[in-house]
Amino acid sequence: MHQHTYIYTHIIHTYIHTHIRTYIHTHIRTYIHTHIRTYIHTYIFFPNIEDRLKLRINPTPNFTAIVTGHGNIKTYLHKFKIIENPTCPCNKEDQTVDHTIYSCKLHEQERDRMKASIIKPEHWPVSKHKLVQKYYNNFKQFTDNIVLNKE
Ligand SMILES: [Zn+2]
Repeated sequence: MHQHTYIYTHIIHTYIHTHIRTYIHTHIRTYIHTHIRTYIHTYIFFPNIEDRLKLRINPTPNFTAIVTGHGNIKTYLHKFKIIENPTCPCNKEDQTVDHTIYSCKLHEQERDRMKASIIKPEHWPVSKHKLVQKYYNNFKQFTDNIVLNKE
């Protein structure tokens, strides 16, 4: 009886040990990896947490996709094998956050409107950090008015 209990405990112990290790290796590492990438991406927009807290952010799907790099952005959807082709609807380049903000022809009109309101004291391209910090309203309007990908 005692021996049985010992073996049983040992089996459970080994089972838990192996499975927790596997779990850590697959799930947690993937989770951390994904979140660090999101964090790094978002960090470009918000280098310090105080700035981020000062802004009263009212996130919309496009704004969130652009600031986090996660969402309806083709390079993101492609990376997670949701779509086969990361090419932007403009057919010039892959649809990345930078392409969307700074170069996509499809968003030229909205970009020009944003630039017109901020270009006087600045030289374009204005950094992503500045776009969010100093020109939040203009940038937010830009992200809300562009059509990223028709779903
Ligand atoms: Zn494009």
